[in-house]
Amino acid sequence: MALNDVIGQEKAVAILQGILKKKRLASSYLFCGESGIGKKMAAINFAKAVNCLNLPGGSDDARARFLSAAPRSPGGADYDACDACTSCIKIDSGAHPDIILIGPQEGLIKIDEVRSIEEALSFRPYEGSKKVVIVDDADTMNQAAANTFLKTLEEPPEDSLIILVSSRPDRLLPTIRSRCSLIVFHPLSLDSCRQILDGKIAAHDIEQAVCLSLGRPGLALTGNVAGDRDRFMDLLKSMLRSEKDSWSSREEVDGWFDQALLFMRDLAVLKITGKQTLLINVDMAENLAGLGKSLELKGIINIYKELSLMKVMWLFNLNKSLTWNYTASLLRKELVL
Ligand SMILES: [Zn+2]
Repeated sequence: MALNDVIGQEKAVAILQGILKKKRLASSYLFCGESGIGKKMAAINFAKAVNCLNLPGGSDDARARFLSAAPRSPGGADYDACDACTSCIKIDSGAHPDIILIGPQEGLIKIDEVRSIEEALSFRPYEGSKKVVIVDDADTMNQAAANTFLKTLEEPPEDSLIILVSSRPDRLLPTIRSRCSLIVFHPLSLDSCRQILDGKIAAHDIEQAVCLSLGRPGLALTGNVAGDRDRFMDLLKSMLRSEKDSWSSREEVDGWFDQALLFMRDLAVLKITGKQTLLINVDMAENLAGLGKSLELKGIINIYKELSLMKVMWLFNLNKSLTWNYTASLLRKELVL
């Protein structure tokens, strides 16, 4: 595939192709936006396009070494990967020596991993015009790794391209963020989600997955959006029954607050419009309508505001059990399931 095949991210793709066309490649980029919307896929295909032997005005050296008679893909954009040359094929199979992809191991990118990048970048590209390092979930670098990585960003080796991919760019060191050119990715439209999920998940699950994934089809493909929502509901009921902290991990708390805000959003939408078709949790429309009857719009909005605040405060390392108890007491004032 190529940049043009990244569905629903036309704006980001146009910016990347513009960079290739104008030959204004920066040394480092930060691809940011929510999880599961195509950032990593775009990063790999940008790396492909940068090194594609059929890119107009590409490296003559590379062309001479890897003369490829492959035609450009029919209908493909000029400033994109051709998907057919030796370089594109090698990158697709993960066998290109100049493309290095790293990501977290057990939730963390450690200093050893960053040092291996430094070492790899210290050599000139073997085959391609640029040596490309893609750091997936770059915000999972620990302090030591981030500080070491910053040095590489400050003095990027010649012929290198670094692409950081992150759904939580606010967790990156500000000094790392400021060194990168920002490419912003947005959640996809419902139609783009359907297009991506079509044929990949069972037909009768598509509409629910499209709604619950909120424009993030990657989540519907790699995770279990319906299962996550059910788990959220179980935890919500535990809270309302005054049970003790049942969040299994800090990561689960992040997702729980996201789900809670969607839940309150649905209650507000139903209260204001009465239209079940506008709900995200559309399969729970009857339950939400029943619950909404006993609630005032003002109360729903108040809970939404408090939960939004809690979600932000949570990032400052709040104690998990205290957060559970506080959130539960907040919800019990208004909600009865
Ligand atoms: Zn190519």
